[in-house]
Amino acid sequence: MIQANVGNIALLPGLCQNSNCESVKNRIMIVKRHQCESNNYRGNMKRLTGLVTDPIYLEHDTGQHPENSNRLRVILNELKNSDIWDQLEIIPGEKAERSLIELIHDSDYIDSIEREIKSGAPFVGTMDCIVSPRTFEVAEYAVGGGLALVRKVDSGELKNGCALVRPPGHHAEKRQALGFCYFNNIAICAEYLIKRRNYRRILIMDFDVHHGNGTQHSFESRKDVFYCSIHENPTVCYPGTGFETEVGMGEGKGFTLNVPMRSFSGDEAYLKELEETFIPAWREYKPEFVLISAGYDAHKEDPLARISITDVTYKAYAEALCKIAAEFSDGKLVSFLEGGYNLEVIPRLALAHAKILINAANSL
Ligand SMILES: [Zn+2]
Repeated sequence: MIQANVGNIALLPGLCQNSNCESVKNRIMIVKRHQCESNNYRGNMKRLTGLVTDPIYLEHDTGQHPENSNRLRVILNELKNSDIWDQLEIIPGEKAERSLIELIHDSDYIDSIEREIKSGAPFVGTMDCIVSPRTFEVAEYAVGGGLALVRKVDSGELKNGCALVRPPGHHAEKRQALGFCYFNNIAICAEYLIKRRNYRRILIMDFDVHHGNGTQHSFESRKDVFYCSIHENPTVCYPGTGFETEVGMGEGKGFTLNVPMRSFSGDEAYLKELEETFIPAWREYKPEFVLISAGYDAHKEDPLARISITDVTYKAYAEALCKIAAEFSDGKLVSFLEGGYNLEVIPRLALAHAKILINAANSL
């Protein structure tokens, strides 16, 4: 039986079965723990890397669907039992303000999915977007958790961090839930930085094996967000977008960069694209803030795609992005969990990713 730990709190496996009181109690305990450990300090060590985690993210109950709460349980167990746990500043989820969700999504869409979910619909949008009674609230908290972390990095309280939230977001369109996604967490955070914090150049790198159609469509006619994605060839892989010819439009032409990869490409091809395509493009853009759609489903052991990269490539991309952030954005970088469905593999990849962020933050 899988048990997960959040902070000092052991989560019982039954927690995701809509036990609201337990969720609230656990959140209160996490907040209390943090009130005891003021100003990010534990002993003499200042924590510079944030981790958004909250028991509520387990309550989007999708049963046996590949995108299920055990994904977060196994990652949290791995982090909790690692030597870096004490170096992570835990940030509980929080409900996003409606006006911030509306930075990307239509008000009518938000109302309609809330209505459908609360009326007991089994899915919204397409049949792969399974919902449970608390899905709407959990999705609001996924956006809010990401925003809380982004605000702390923007203010300088933290240098960088990971939003271990679900549901994921990069397929969600302005008016459509798609591909296990309801609200586009990363797009909302990018738009928040531009509209509310006056940033002018946000880099989003998406290395999930599936193209982030929702994120691209949110920004493809603008140049203040540079959306980059490496993914499996869209002629054979969901969602069927992300061709090399999709480069942005109007003022945004040249600020969308898609690198579709042949099935079974492997590490060598991915690393070549990193060195020869992405790093030069990122350097030329000079981002003021770096956001990552971190999907671990391109791994050779993942059941949902056929790209065959290993841990080496994930490490190289994370390190390169941290370097770019250090060079151009004072280290400001936030990553969002997207896909990744092999429960044996994703804890290891998420831990390695967090270690890279901690090392980068401590080197600034
Ligand atoms: Zn994916």
